[in-house]
Amino acid sequence: MKSTSRDIRLRNCFAVLRHLIADAPTSRQILARETDLSVATVSNLVTDLIELGVVVEVGREDSGGGRPRALLAPNAAGGVMIGVDVAETYVQLEAYDLALTVVDRVEERMEVSENSPDQVIGHIASAMDQVRGRLGDRAVLGVGVSLPGQVDVAWGVSGFAPNWNWHDVPFRRLLTERLELDVPVYLDNPLKTITVGELWFGDGRGVDRLAVLILGTGVGAGLAFGGQLYRGATNSAGEWGHTTINPAGPECRCGAKGCIESYVGAPAILRQWAALGGRPDTGSQTEAMAALAAAWEAGEPSAVRTVETVAESLAAGVANLLNLVNPDLVVFDGWVTAALGDALVPEFERRLAAHAMEAPLKAARLKRNTEERNMVALGAAALALEGHLNRLNTVGSRSRR
Ligand SMILES: [Zn+2]
Repeated sequence: MKSTSRDIRLRNCFAVLRHLIADAPTSRQILARETDLSVATVSNLVTDLIELGVVVEVGREDSGGGRPRALLAPNAAGGVMIGVDVAETYVQLEAYDLALTVVDRVEERMEVSENSPDQVIGHIASAMDQVRGRLGDRAVLGVGVSLPGQVDVAWGVSGFAPNWNWHDVPFRRLLTERLELDVPVYLDNPLKTITVGELWFGDGRGVDRLAVLILGTGVGAGLAFGGQLYRGATNSAGEWGHTTINPAGPECRCGAKGCIESYVGAPAILRQWAALGGRPDTGSQTEAMAALAAAWEAGEPSAVRTVETVAESLAAGVANLLNLVNPDLVVFDGWVTAALGDALVPEFERRLAAHAMEAPLKAARLKRNTEERNMVALGAAALALEGHLNRLNTVGSRSRR
């Protein structure tokens, strides 16, 4: 795909605003240094960001004898971006100012049976009503929604949500009608939104080649190169969970055999523990995972053995990813990482060298996400912010082209 000057301008704009959000208040000169762009390029972008109402000048600093430098910050009093995390048991809606700071949050619990598009949209609408009521006259500039499953980003359609048996649901149109919205709505799945969240606010900021591994009930990766999410031809890039590590392995829910997910997804981990005689019969998946972590902590042999076996599969899968992608940074995220990471991460890191090639292994930093925030909702809001910044190409270019 050809990179146009428009793409490059947008990419530079993301880089400038990410540093500006992280380091505010800051100056054009410091932003130029941080982003490796010229002061002239940064100044042009900042002028457009100010015109768009995203950035404001907040004062001046002494530059050591020269002309005082203007200090810049995100326009915290400007409009808000909405990020929505739709999961199987809850809808969490967060409102963010333009510094991506949470200004409001509503969570709606959902019964597992409440899974029709109408019911899910009803919960989003109810959360949105509450937040809108409290925002007063602050404008909503965009809405990002994370939905489980496959999403057609261009058409705003949920192509397939396996757990809800949704097929080709025109979710964006339905939601826009229900909310009576006149702002753009962006849809994607949690793999993609978490990765965008990492680029804007997490460890991925400023990283050239980033992989985010999400370990949960499902397993997958988000990839980003040059500060931009990599989607692939059909938005399915990063389906790392469905790469094969054993062609004769157990059947996976995708229909194939021996996928990495059929070894390290939460149900697979608990199945292996049960096979060794360990899993308590009662409780939810998350409770069982917490019980496994506690049993491992206590040195119970079935738990220790389970963690070792899962770590071996995970090491093979991560080595495949390192060899294929050669990333600078791999961030581990997802609820299984949070619940079992203390046991699992050191065990699999020890086994990694047996599977990965030396050069990509040495080049990659491995890190667990320590961010307490909801990265799914944050990333969804960041997608909406990226869409808003796309307007720069109509706003700013007017004056300079
Ligand atoms: Zn699979």
